Amino acid sequence: MRLSRKRYTKRVLGLLTILAVVTIALAFPALFIHDHMENLIIERLGIEARNVAISIAHLIEQDIAPYRKLVNTTGQGDPQFDEAYYLRTNALLREIKQEIDADFIYTEAVVSDSEIAYILDAEDMASEDFSAFGEREGVTENELIAHIRKMSLFTDVVDYPDWGKLITGFAPIVDAADGTVVGLVGVDFALEKVGDMLRKVSLVIFLSFVILIILISLVMYILILLRIESQKTDYLSGLHSKKFHEFRLNDAIEDALSTKRPLSLMMIDIDRFKAINDTYGHQVGDRALKSVADVLKLNTRVVDICSRYGGDEFVVILPETNLKDAVVAGQRIVDKVQQVSQDFDGLAAGELTVSIGIAQWSLDETPESLMEKADKALYQSKETGRNKLTVYREAKQSG
Ligand code: GH3
Ligand code: MG
Repeated sequence: MRLSRKRYTKRVLGLLTILAVVTIALAFPALFIHDHMENLIIERLGIEARNVAISIAHLIEQDIAPYRKLVNTTGQGDPQFDEAYYLRTNALLREIKQEIDADFIYTEAVVSDSEIAYILDAEDMASEDFSAFGEREGVTENELIAHIRKMSLFTDVVDYPDWGKLITGFAPIVDAADGTVVGLVGVDFALEKVGDMLRKVSLVIFLSFVILIILISLVMYILILLRIESQKTDYLSGLHSKKFHEFRLNDAIEDALSTKRPLSLMMIDIDRFKAINDTYGHQVGDRALKSVADVLKLNTRVVDICSRYGGDEFVVILPETNLKDAVVAGQRIVDKVQQVSQDFDGLAAGELTVSIGIAQWSLDETPESLMEKADKALYQSKETGRNKLTVYREAKQSG
């Protein structure tokens, strides 16, 4: 129980590690894509602001004379100031502003390298955001560029303390008669206009990457498990590999230490296997190996760990098993292998036999020493006639 929980914890930790690594690896592309998408959406908003500014500039250019005249007046007190045109055009801008859901629409004249003067404004005249005719403000670099180069453009997002984050499109109002720039149209869009879209894009990118991270992690985890599994198995016999045996013997000893339960080990070697190979060929030899492996599997418990240790040698870990029970299991294996050989197609009856060495783990004993003891007992089985088992006993072996 304890062992399986330990392995379960290891697997969970393994999966979490893969998840962490994949998340870190994908975080950078995710952030990159997110930023890229965000910039694209903001850029679209800027293009929209600039296009609206261009359209309004063209609208004013259609009838440039009254606008030009208005720009050249000093304000409402000036007898040249065309009040009707001023009010009518402001109302038109207000209508456009409402239609397209812009935040501010205005026109301005660049009066010096450092100042602009507002001309028209779509705001309600009673609003505190309304810029009166002739009201001055500092000029920005973008406004100078639009004015001097006669080009339309849009700004970066600017965070204003009073109005929040705005992106502005500027377009020059050009008098086609002499090519002079009479002023600029400014159209402001609040970033919040695309806030909902930005939030949705962030969510879609986030969810896509979470799904991608989970899928990649699971695929990697399954591939790693399959690889570990293939390394754990001996392809010919279908039993566990030597590597897996070593790994599990350490676990079994740890387990025996903590539970204070006995632990036994069985080494099995096919008798005169070289002669079988030489007489009947390797294919028959392979089949014989497989049938011995099958006998081991069928005559041990599920908790016992049967492995092919190499060549014609096998090893079985018997957790919670004392010498007496290990001997019963060992003798059953010796008998069954001999029985199998009676029906084995291609061998003479009784020709396939095994010798076994059994040792019980004693407190503080290393895996290597336990293996050595079982090996010594196996050697003794070989020495004393084969087709039998021998138990390792301290006094007997040393004497
Ligand atoms: P002993 O009773 O003393 O164990 O005699 P033995 O002939 O079994 O001992 P030895 O170690 O000399 O021979 C083991 C033979 O196992 C040698 C090798 O050809 C054979 N062998 C090892 N791996 C394989 C395998 O994968 N397939 C087959 N067919 N034979 C194998
Ligand atoms: Mg052998």
